[in-house]
Amino acid sequence: MSVNDEPLLHAQDLVRRYAMRRGMFGRPAEVRAVDGVSLTLRRGQTLGLVGESGCGKSTTGRMVLGLEVPDSGGVAFANERMPAPGTPAWRRLRARMAMVYQDPLGALDRRLDIGTQVAEPLEIHGIGTRADRPVRVTALLRSVGLRPDHARSFPHELSGGQRQRAVLARALATSPDLLVCDEPISALDVSIQAQVMNLLAEVQARTGVAMLFISHDLRAVRQMSHRVAVMYLGRVVEEGEPDDVLHAPAHPYAQALVSAIPHPGRRGGRIVLKGDPPNPAARPPGCAFHPRCALAAALCAREVPVLKPRASDRRLVACHVAQGEVAPGAGLPQPAMEAA
Ligand code: SF4
Repeated sequence: MSVNDEPLLHAQDLVRRYAMRRGMFGRPAEVRAVDGVSLTLRRGQTLGLVGESGCGKSTTGRMVLGLEVPDSGGVAFANERMPAPGTPAWRRLRARMAMVYQDPLGALDRRLDIGTQVAEPLEIHGIGTRADRPVRVTALLRSVGLRPDHARSFPHELSGGQRQRAVLARALATSPDLLVCDEPISALDVSIQAQVMNLLAEVQARTGVAMLFISHDLRAVRQMSHRVAVMYLGRVVEEGEPDDVLHAPAHPYAQALVSAIPHPGRRGGRIVLKGDPPNPAARPPGCAFHPRCALAAALCAREVPVLKPRASDRRLVACHVAQGEVAPGAGLPQPAMEAA
């Protein structure tokens, strides 16, 4: 097994529930924001996590980082089970992981200059001496394409792209093995997005850092990822290589997502999903996607499809039809034929 084949991170069956009250006098309902997600991430590789807003992507990222404790399931990082938050063992592992946030202005402290903020993780984790921190900060700023004098700038004096570079410099201060990038380009101008993606790819090639790249932008995910997982209502419904999942998706929900992006080589038009996005507090029985699925069979409303490898290719799919277990529409009343 080569170094790149070794799993750096393994999340097993993560579940995260929240209590939600509908209206002031409504009864509390349980929302399963993440409902049995398992992920593996290898050193030097990027796993793209895609899905609509509210599907559980960010909560999964926060559990991977140990910022949220799963209600069940667990995370192993570099063959160590993630310790309880706040403990010395947790701090030691956390120094090897960092987060790049969606909103770089919100992620930075407006009252502190960039140099102080990039130096912060060095101080927290006791890396280097006070005397050599300015040299380290300069090297970190240069490594993300900022100038040394940007250390004296305040966040509001930088452009959006420069702020995201500063956030990345701070994230790289501890030489992490894992970066969790949560929608890292969605708050940036389109012209800057490509620059930041190129920078992330260049940092990965240089340092071998693994990335969990969370985004609703399928084109960005396709460009950045070695593997892709598609989430729907707290579960992974399809996982595989970007050329499979984002070019010829097998799961009907992934097909609908991908169809929204024009692509010269793809056949068929845009798939418009029926019905409203589901209420996470009222998860449909069986396959949670069945009320909106054009291929649903009677079985789909009864049995939860399991995410498992498909016999015909290497991807994992959670769909009775895509797995060949049932024909589309089987067991459902057929629409009445129109009289001639
Ligand atoms: Fe559609 Fe059934 Fe597959 Fe769910 S299991 S995506 S309802 S075909």
